[in-house]
Amino acid sequence: MEIRIKSVSKDFFSEGKKIKALSNVDLTIPANQIFTLLGPSGCGKTTLLRCIVGLETPDSGEIAIGEEIVWSKEKNIFVPPEKRGLSMVFQTYAIWPHMTVFDNVAYPLQTRKESKEEIRSKVEKTLRFVQLEGFENRPATKLSGGQQQRVALARALVPEPKVILFDEPLSNLDAKLREETRKELRSFLTELKITAVYVTHDRIEALSLSDAIAVMKDGRMVEIGTPKKIYFGSDHRFVADFIGQANLINGKVAAIEDSYTIVDSSIGTISCQKSPDTSVGNAVTLCIRPEFIKVMEGDTSEEINIFRGRVESLLFVGDAYEAEIIIKATRLIIRIEPTAIVEEGDEIALAFDPDHCFLLSK
Ligand code: ADP
Ligand code: MG
Repeated sequence: MEIRIKSVSKDFFSEGKKIKALSNVDLTIPANQIFTLLGPSGCGKTTLLRCIVGLETPDSGEIAIGEEIVWSKEKNIFVPPEKRGLSMVFQTYAIWPHMTVFDNVAYPLQTRKESKEEIRSKVEKTLRFVQLEGFENRPATKLSGGQQQRVALARALVPEPKVILFDEPLSNLDAKLREETRKELRSFLTELKITAVYVTHDRIEALSLSDAIAVMKDGRMVEIGTPKKIYFGSDHRFVADFIGQANLINGKVAAIEDSYTIVDSSIGTISCQKSPDTSVGNAVTLCIRPEFIKVMEGDTSEEINIFRGRVESLLFVGDAYEAEIIIKATRLIIRIEPTAIVEEGDEIALAFDPDHCFLLSK
Protein backbone atom coordinates (compact mmCIF):
# COMPACT_ATOMS: atom_id res chain seq x y z
CA MET A 1 0.00 0.00 0.00
CA GLU A 2 1.37 3.39 -0.99
CA ILE A 3 1.95 6.07 1.65
CA ARG A 4 1.72 9.74 0.70
CA ILE A 5 3.06 12.45 2.94
CA LYS A 6 2.29 16.04 1.98
CA SER A 7 3.91 19.11 3.57
CA VAL A 8 4.16 17.52 7.00
CA SER A 9 5.81 19.68 9.67
CA LYS A 10 6.32 19.03 13.36
CA ASP A 11 7.89 21.23 16.01
CA PHE A 12 8.76 20.22 19.55
CA PHE A 13 9.26 22.60 22.43
CA SER A 14 11.86 21.70 24.96
CA GLU A 15 13.28 23.93 27.73
CA GLY A 16 11.81 27.01 26.08
CA LYS A 17 13.40 26.22 22.71
CA LYS A 18 11.66 25.28 19.49
CA ILE A 19 12.99 22.19 17.69
CA LYS A 20 11.93 21.81 14.07
CA ALA A 21 11.79 18.00 13.94
CA LEU A 22 10.10 17.92 10.50
CA SER A 23 9.99 20.79 7.99
CA ASN A 24 7.57 20.50 5.09
CA VAL A 25 8.25 16.86 4.33
CA ASP A 26 6.85 15.67 0.99
CA LEU A 27 7.30 11.99 0.31
CA THR A 28 5.64 9.14 -1.55
CA ILE A 29 6.53 5.67 -0.34
CA PRO A 30 5.71 3.20 -3.12
CA ALA A 31 3.68 0.07 -2.42
CA ASN A 32 5.39 -3.25 -1.73
CA GLN A 33 8.91 -1.93 -1.46
CA ILE A 34 11.44 -1.77 1.33
CA PHE A 35 11.78 1.98 1.75
CA THR A 36 14.43 3.34 4.12
CA LEU A 37 14.63 6.67 5.91
CA LEU A 38 18.33 7.25 6.47
CA GLY A 39 20.02 10.12 8.25
CA PRO A 40 22.09 11.13 11.25
CA SER A 41 20.73 10.89 14.75
CA GLY A 42 18.21 13.66 15.48
CA CYS A 43 17.26 14.35 11.85
CA GLY A 44 13.58 13.45 12.37
CA LYS A 45 13.34 9.81 11.23
CA THR A 46 11.53 8.51 14.31
CA THR A 47 9.22 11.53 14.37
CA LEU A 48 8.20 10.90 10.76
CA LEU A 49 7.61 7.20 11.47
CA ARG A 50 5.52 8.05 14.54
CA CYS A 51 3.46 10.52 12.48
CA ILE A 52 2.71 7.76 9.92
CA VAL A 53 1.74 5.33 12.69
CA GLY A 54 -0.35 7.94 14.51
CA LEU A 55 1.66 8.07 17.72
CA GLU A 56 2.60 11.67 16.97
CA THR A 57 0.39 14.43 15.57
CA PRO A 58 1.99 16.71 12.96
CA ASP A 59 1.44 20.48 13.08
CA SER A 60 0.44 20.71 9.42
CA GLY A 61 0.09 18.67 6.23
CA GLU A 62 -1.59 15.44 5.25
CA ILE A 63 -0.83 11.71 5.41
CA ALA A 64 -2.59 9.06 3.33
CA ILE A 65 -2.19 5.29 3.40
CA GLY A 66 -3.50 3.76 0.19
CA GLU A 67 -6.73 5.56 -0.67
CA GLU A 68 -7.42 6.61 2.90
CA ILE A 69 -6.37 9.93 4.42
CA VAL A 70 -5.32 9.03 7.97
CA TRP A 71 -4.38 12.51 9.06
CA SER A 72 -5.14 15.97 7.71
CA LYS A 73 -4.92 19.26 9.49
CA GLU A 74 -7.06 21.05 6.94
CA LYS A 75 -9.75 18.37 6.67
CA ASN A 76 -9.66 17.71 10.39
CA ILE A 77 -9.06 13.95 9.99
CA PHE A 78 -7.35 11.77 12.59
CA VAL A 79 -7.54 8.00 12.24
CA PRO A 80 -6.28 6.47 15.52
CA PRO A 81 -3.19 4.20 15.33
CA GLU A 82 -5.07 0.93 15.83
CA LYS A 83 -7.35 1.72 12.87
CA ARG A 84 -4.51 2.42 10.42
CA GLY A 85 -3.72 -1.22 9.68
CA LEU A 86 -0.01 -0.84 10.42
CA SER A 87 2.51 -2.74 12.54
CA MET A 88 5.66 -1.37 14.04
CA VAL A 89 8.87 -3.09 15.16
CA PHE A 90 10.88 -1.10 17.72
CA GLN A 91 14.58 -0.94 18.48
CA THR A 92 13.99 -2.65 21.83
CA TYR A 93 11.70 -5.28 20.19
CA ALA A 94 9.24 -4.66 23.07
CA ILE A 95 8.48 -8.36 23.38
CA TRP A 96 7.12 -9.49 26.74
CA PRO A 97 9.66 -11.45 28.77
CA HIS A 98 7.07 -13.17 30.99
CA MET A 99 5.23 -14.63 28.00
CA THR A 100 6.04 -17.58 25.74
CA VAL A 101 6.89 -17.12 22.10
CA PHE A 102 3.37 -18.26 21.19
CA ASP A 103 1.66 -15.77 23.51
CA ASN A 104 3.85 -12.91 22.34
CA VAL A 105 2.95 -13.53 18.72
CA ALA A 106 -0.72 -14.27 19.50
CA TYR A 107 -1.18 -11.02 21.43
CA PRO A 108 -2.31 -8.73 18.57
CA LEU A 109 -4.91 -11.33 17.53
CA GLN A 110 -6.16 -11.85 21.09
CA THR A 111 -6.82 -8.13 21.46
CA ARG A 112 -8.96 -8.44 18.32
CA LYS A 113 -10.85 -11.30 19.95
CA GLU A 114 -10.28 -13.79 17.15
CA SER A 115 -11.22 -17.44 17.72
CA LYS A 116 -8.75 -19.82 19.39
CA GLU A 117 -8.40 -22.03 16.30
CA GLU A 118 -7.87 -19.08 14.03
CA ILE A 119 -5.21 -17.64 16.36
CA ARG A 120 -3.39 -20.96 16.59
CA SER A 121 -3.28 -21.46 12.86
CA LYS A 122 -2.14 -17.88 12.11
CA VAL A 123 0.55 -17.91 14.81
CA GLU A 124 1.90 -21.26 13.63
CA LYS A 125 2.00 -20.13 10.04
CA THR A 126 3.85 -16.94 11.00
CA LEU A 127 6.33 -18.75 13.24
CA ARG A 128 7.05 -21.16 10.39
CA PHE A 129 7.66 -18.18 8.13
CA VAL A 130 10.21 -16.59 10.48
CA GLN A 131 11.75 -20.02 11.10
CA LEU A 132 10.78 -20.30 14.76
CA GLU A 133 8.72 -23.47 14.40
CA GLY A 134 9.01 -25.55 17.55
CA PHE A 135 9.75 -22.53 19.77
CA GLU A 136 6.08 -21.93 20.69
CA ASN A 137 6.39 -22.78 24.39
CA ARG A 138 9.81 -21.24 24.97
CA PRO A 139 9.79 -18.25 27.36
CA ALA A 140 10.77 -15.19 25.35
CA THR A 141 13.75 -14.56 27.65
CA LYS A 142 15.30 -17.92 26.70
CA LEU A 143 15.97 -16.77 23.17
CA SER A 144 19.03 -15.29 21.50
CA GLY A 145 18.96 -11.66 20.35
CA GLY A 146 18.36 -12.73 16.77
CA GLN A 147 15.49 -15.02 17.77
CA GLN A 148 13.90 -12.25 19.85
CA GLN A 149 14.11 -10.06 16.80
CA ARG A 150 12.26 -12.71 14.80
CA VAL A 151 9.56 -12.94 17.49
CA ALA A 152 9.10 -9.17 17.21
CA LEU A 153 8.84 -9.52 13.43
CA ALA A 154 6.33 -12.40 13.75
CA ARG A 155 4.19 -10.37 16.16
CA ALA A 156 4.20 -7.47 13.71
CA LEU A 157 3.30 -9.71 10.77
CA VAL A 158 0.60 -11.86 12.35
CA PRO A 159 -2.25 -9.32 12.04
CA GLU A 160 -1.46 -9.09 8.30
CA PRO A 161 -0.78 -5.34 8.29
CA LYS A 162 -0.95 -3.21 5.16
CA VAL A 163 2.38 -1.67 6.07
CA ILE A 164 5.15 -2.64 8.48
CA LEU A 165 7.40 0.00 10.01
CA PHE A 166 10.78 -0.57 11.62
CA ASP A 167 12.65 1.86 13.87
CA GLU A 168 16.34 0.86 13.99
CA PRO A 169 15.41 -2.76 14.77
CA LEU A 170 18.92 -4.17 14.51
CA SER A 171 20.88 -1.64 16.52
CA ASN A 172 20.85 -3.77 19.68
CA LEU A 173 22.47 -6.76 17.97
CA ASP A 174 26.22 -7.31 17.80
CA ALA A 175 27.94 -6.79 14.45
CA LYS A 176 27.94 -10.38 13.19
CA LEU A 177 24.34 -11.10 14.16
CA ARG A 178 23.28 -7.78 12.69
CA GLU A 179 24.68 -8.85 9.30
CA GLU A 180 22.85 -12.18 9.40
CA THR A 181 19.58 -10.67 10.59
CA ARG A 182 19.78 -8.01 7.89
CA LYS A 183 19.97 -10.68 5.20
CA GLU A 184 17.14 -12.66 6.78
CA LEU A 185 14.94 -9.59 7.06
CA ARG A 186 15.53 -8.68 3.44
CA SER A 187 14.51 -12.14 2.30
CA PHE A 188 11.41 -12.23 4.58
CA LEU A 189 10.21 -8.83 3.40
CA THR A 190 10.89 -9.49 -0.27
CA GLU A 191 8.93 -12.73 -0.09
CA LEU A 192 5.98 -11.03 1.63
CA LYS A 193 5.66 -8.24 -0.93
CA ILE A 194 4.57 -5.80 1.75
CA THR A 195 5.23 -2.08 2.07
CA ALA A 196 8.01 -1.74 4.64
CA VAL A 197 9.28 1.55 6.01
CA TYR A 198 12.64 1.12 7.65
CA VAL A 199 14.45 3.72 9.75
CA THR A 200 18.19 3.59 10.32
CA HIS A 201 21.28 5.76 10.68
CA ASP A 202 23.45 2.88 9.42
CA ARG A 203 24.43 3.32 5.78
CA ILE A 204 25.35 -0.34 5.18
CA GLU A 205 21.98 -1.42 6.51
CA ALA A 206 20.25 1.09 4.24
CA LEU A 207 22.25 0.08 1.16
CA SER A 208 21.84 -3.64 1.64
CA LEU A 209 18.19 -3.81 2.70
CA SER A 210 16.39 -1.19 0.66
CA ASP A 211 14.69 -0.90 -2.69
CA ALA A 212 14.82 2.88 -2.20
CA ILE A 213 16.45 5.21 0.30
CA ALA A 214 15.34 8.67 1.40
CA VAL A 215 18.18 10.61 3.00
CA MET A 216 17.12 13.14 5.65
CA LYS A 217 18.91 16.02 7.31
CA ASP A 218 17.64 18.49 9.92
CA GLY A 219 14.00 17.51 9.47
CA ARG A 220 14.07 17.72 5.68
CA MET A 221 14.19 15.25 2.80
CA VAL A 222 17.45 15.72 0.94
CA GLU A 223 17.48 13.05 -1.75
CA ILE A 224 15.59 9.89 -2.70
CA GLY A 225 16.85 7.11 -4.93
CA THR A 226 17.82 3.47 -5.28
CA PRO A 227 20.82 2.37 -3.22
CA LYS A 228 22.99 2.38 -6.35
CA LYS A 229 21.86 5.84 -7.44
CA ILE A 230 22.52 7.23 -3.97
CA TYR A 231 25.94 5.57 -3.72
CA PHE A 232 27.25 5.98 -7.27
CA GLY A 233 25.62 9.20 -8.36
CA SER A 234 23.99 11.22 -5.62
CA ASP A 235 23.36 14.88 -6.37
CA HIS A 236 24.14 16.27 -2.94
CA ARG A 237 27.44 16.69 -1.18
CA PHE A 238 25.84 15.78 2.14
CA VAL A 239 24.39 12.53 0.75
CA ALA A 240 27.57 11.47 -1.08
CA ASP A 241 29.53 11.91 2.12
CA PHE A 242 26.97 10.31 4.45
CA ILE A 243 26.40 7.14 2.41
CA GLY A 244 30.05 6.09 2.20
CA GLN A 245 33.65 7.19 2.23
CA ALA A 246 33.96 9.92 -0.34
CA ASN A 247 36.73 12.11 -1.69
CA LEU A 248 35.17 15.48 -2.43
CA ILE A 249 37.29 17.75 -4.58
CA ASN A 250 36.47 21.32 -5.60
CA GLY A 251 36.94 22.37 -9.20
CA LYS A 252 35.64 24.22 -12.20
CA VAL A 253 34.31 22.76 -15.47
CA ALA A 254 37.01 23.33 -18.12
CA ALA A 255 35.45 21.56 -21.11
CA ILE A 256 32.65 19.22 -22.06
CA GLU A 257 33.82 16.46 -24.38
CA ASP A 258 31.94 13.61 -26.05
CA SER A 259 32.60 11.06 -23.33
CA TYR A 260 33.70 13.07 -20.32
CA THR A 261 33.36 16.39 -18.54
CA ILE A 262 36.82 17.85 -17.95
CA VAL A 263 37.32 19.57 -14.61
CA ASP A 264 40.20 21.76 -13.41
CA SER A 265 40.60 20.81 -9.78
CA SER A 266 42.91 21.20 -6.82
CA ILE A 267 44.72 18.00 -7.84
CA GLY A 268 44.95 18.82 -11.59
CA THR A 269 42.84 18.36 -14.71
CA ILE A 270 40.56 15.38 -14.37
CA SER A 271 38.09 13.59 -16.67
CA CYS A 272 34.74 12.92 -15.02
CA GLN A 273 31.45 11.23 -15.82
CA LYS A 274 29.23 13.44 -18.00
CA SER A 275 26.73 15.37 -15.98
CA PRO A 276 23.60 16.76 -17.67
CA ASP A 277 23.37 20.03 -15.79
CA THR A 278 26.83 21.57 -15.89
CA SER A 279 28.41 23.99 -18.31
CA VAL A 280 31.90 25.32 -18.86
CA GLY A 281 32.99 27.66 -16.07
CA ASN A 282 30.67 26.22 -13.41
CA ALA A 283 32.12 25.63 -9.98
CA VAL A 284 31.59 21.97 -9.09
CA THR A 285 32.39 19.41 -6.45
CA LEU A 286 33.56 16.10 -7.81
CA CYS A 287 33.20 12.91 -5.85
CA ILE A 288 35.26 9.76 -6.17
CA ARG A 289 35.04 6.85 -3.78
CA PRO A 290 38.25 5.26 -2.45
CA GLU A 291 37.71 1.97 -4.29
CA PHE A 292 37.87 3.68 -7.68
CA ILE A 293 41.37 5.07 -7.18
CA LYS A 294 44.00 2.47 -8.11
CA VAL A 295 47.73 2.39 -7.47
CA MET A 296 49.60 2.18 -10.81
CA GLU A 297 52.94 0.56 -11.48
CA GLY A 298 55.19 0.81 -14.54
CA ASP A 299 54.52 3.00 -17.56
CA THR A 300 51.43 5.15 -17.12
CA SER A 301 51.93 7.51 -20.07
CA GLU A 302 49.04 6.00 -22.06
CA GLU A 303 46.51 6.34 -19.30
CA ILE A 304 44.19 9.21 -18.38
CA ASN A 305 43.53 10.59 -14.91
CA ILE A 306 46.92 9.67 -13.46
CA PHE A 307 48.07 11.74 -10.50
CA ARG A 308 51.16 11.42 -8.37
CA GLY A 309 50.88 11.64 -4.63
CA ARG A 310 52.58 10.86 -1.35
CA VAL A 311 51.40 8.25 1.14
CA GLU A 312 50.68 10.19 4.32
CA SER A 313 49.35 7.35 6.46
CA LEU A 314 48.50 3.67 6.13
CA LEU A 315 45.93 1.88 8.23
CA PHE A 316 45.68 -1.90 7.93
CA VAL A 317 41.97 -2.88 8.15
CA GLY A 318 42.17 -6.54 7.10
CA ASP A 319 40.89 -6.66 3.54
CA ALA A 320 42.87 -3.52 2.60
CA TYR A 321 45.02 -0.66 3.72
CA GLU A 322 43.09 2.54 4.17
CA ALA A 323 45.61 5.09 3.03
CA GLU A 324 45.68 8.87 3.19
CA ILE A 325 47.33 10.33 0.14
CA ILE A 326 48.39 13.92 -0.41
CA ILE A 327 48.19 15.23 -3.97
CA LYS A 328 49.15 18.91 -4.26
CA ALA A 329 48.04 19.62 -0.69
CA THR A 330 44.71 17.84 -1.20
CA ARG A 331 44.15 14.95 1.16
CA LEU A 332 42.42 11.87 -0.24
CA ILE A 333 41.46 8.47 1.11
CA ILE A 334 42.14 5.40 -1.00
CA ARG A 335 42.15 1.65 -0.48
CA ILE A 336 45.28 -0.32 -1.26
CA GLU A 337 45.50 -4.11 -1.52
CA PRO A 338 46.69 -5.56 1.78
CA THR A 339 49.53 -7.42 0.05
CA ALA A 340 50.93 -4.28 -1.67
CA ILE A 341 54.44 -3.21 -0.76
CA VAL A 342 53.98 0.43 0.22
CA GLU A 343 55.22 2.51 3.08
CA GLU A 344 54.32 5.85 4.59
CA GLY A 345 56.21 8.58 2.72
CA ASP A 346 56.29 6.70 -0.62
CA GLU A 347 55.55 8.56 -3.86
CA ILE A 348 52.97 6.63 -5.88
CA ALA A 349 51.01 7.02 -9.13
CA LEU A 350 47.25 6.80 -8.88
CA ALA A 351 44.62 6.25 -11.57
CA PHE A 352 41.17 7.78 -11.02
CA ASP A 353 38.48 5.85 -12.87
CA PRO A 354 36.77 8.59 -14.95
CA ASP A 355 33.50 6.65 -15.05
CA HIS A 356 33.37 6.85 -11.27
CA CYS A 357 34.35 10.50 -10.85
CA PHE A 358 30.94 12.14 -10.63
CA LEU A 359 29.88 15.73 -10.21
CA LEU A 360 27.63 16.80 -7.38
CA SER A 361 25.14 19.44 -8.40
CA LYS A 362 24.01 20.52 -4.91
P1 ADP B 1 15.98 10.53 14.79
O1 ADP B 1 14.99 9.43 14.94
O2 ADP B 1 16.33 10.83 13.36
O3 ADP B 1 17.21 10.35 15.62
P2 ADP B 1 13.93 12.12 16.14
O4 ADP B 1 12.78 12.10 15.21
O5 ADP B 1 13.88 11.22 17.31
O6 ADP B 1 15.28 11.89 15.31
O7 ADP B 1 14.12 13.61 16.68
C1 ADP B 1 14.17 14.76 15.86
C2 ADP B 1 14.39 15.98 16.73
O8 ADP B 1 13.26 16.21 17.56
C3 ADP B 1 15.58 15.84 17.69
O9 ADP B 1 16.19 17.08 17.82
C4 ADP B 1 14.91 15.40 18.98
O10 ADP B 1 15.70 15.78 20.09
C5 ADP B 1 13.61 16.14 18.93
N1 ADP B 1 12.52 15.45 19.63
C6 ADP B 1 11.99 14.24 19.31
N2 ADP B 1 10.98 13.92 20.13
C7 ADP B 1 10.86 14.94 21.02
C8 ADP B 1 9.98 15.22 22.11
N3 ADP B 1 9.01 14.37 22.46
N4 ADP B 1 10.17 16.38 22.78
C9 ADP B 1 11.12 17.25 22.43
N5 ADP B 1 11.97 17.07 21.41
C10 ADP B 1 11.85 15.93 20.70
MG1 MG C 1 15.19 7.65 16.06
